[in-house]
Amino acid sequence: MLMMPTDRRNTTFLDEVIAETPGGEQIAHCMQCGSCGGSCPNAADMDHTPRTLFALIKAGQRQEVLSSNTFWNCVSCYSCTARCPQNIPITEIMYALKRISLRAGLAAETDAPALARTFTGLVDKYGRSFEFGLASRYYLFNKPLSMLKMGPLGLSMFTKGRMSLVPTKIRQLDQLQTIIKKAKELGGAS
Ligand code: SF4
Ligand code: SF4
Repeated sequence: MLMMPTDRRNTTFLDEVIAETPGGEQIAHCMQCGSCGGSCPNAADMDHTPRTLFALIKAGQRQEVLSSNTFWNCVSCYSCTARCPQNIPITEIMYALKRISLRAGLAAETDAPALARTFTGLVDKYGRSFEFGLASRYYLFNKPLSMLKMGPLGLSMFTKGRMSLVPTKIRQLDQLQTIIKKAKELGGAS
């Protein structure tokens, strides 16, 4: 069961990660086999492999871990989770580290946190992603000069019917927004 984030003054960083992750207590059983990094399609772009990250978590290296780009490069493919011999919920831990790093103001200097914020803002508002809005808002607020380069790709997607110019809302959006609101309250997010 997911516990509420705990008071850091009385807990270790490992406790903090466990409290944030369903089934996270399994991390204590990591045997450093490296199967996770070996099966990860994005390991080459991570500054620490998942195996190393877990060793750093156990060693209490909070700043080092939370400023890592590892979890921002995780694409949630679940390969590592499926292959872990210790049933450690690695992908869920990656999600947990994203949340903790954002709260701590330690998110890595990569595009991913800004993209994640833009994406979740759209899901809050429409109940689903809206590719045109996602790309235009992300580039406008974070990389305005790069917008021009993305123009041809956007036009190609639009002409092939892969991107709409207007967002559509899901039905019963109010119910989803209530769920998101409750999840944010439970997770301590603003
Ligand atoms: S596959 Fe599991 S046990 Fe092996 S290093 Fe990764 S997390 Fe640890
Ligand atoms: S879920 Fe994330 S960390 Fe695990 S293999 Fe896939 S990309 Fe790598």
